[in-house]
Amino acid sequence: MCKILHNNWEVSVMKVYVDQDECIACGVCIDMCPDVFDWNEDGKSHVIVDEVPADLEDCVRDAMSSCPTEAIKEA
Ligand code: SF4
Repeated sequence: MCKILHNNWEVSVMKVYVDQDECIACGVCIDMCPDVFDWNEDGKSHVIVDEVPADLEDCVRDAMSSCPTEAIKEA
């Protein structure tokens, strides 16, 4: 989580990325959260949003805990 100012309110924003050295392209995260993860040109998963929408944070947390190599990291 990182803090940003939005309309003078400090809000927490979830940012994640996929460590390309650790991703084994199993596809679990893409199956679980297709609005956040997608295949890249190397055939591995990458994050397609700058910030995780609040309603998808639980989905991303589930994907992080389901990733077999713990390749999904919080930025
Ligand atoms: S779950 Fe992990 S190893 Fe599998 S595609 Fe996603 S980031 Fe890669």
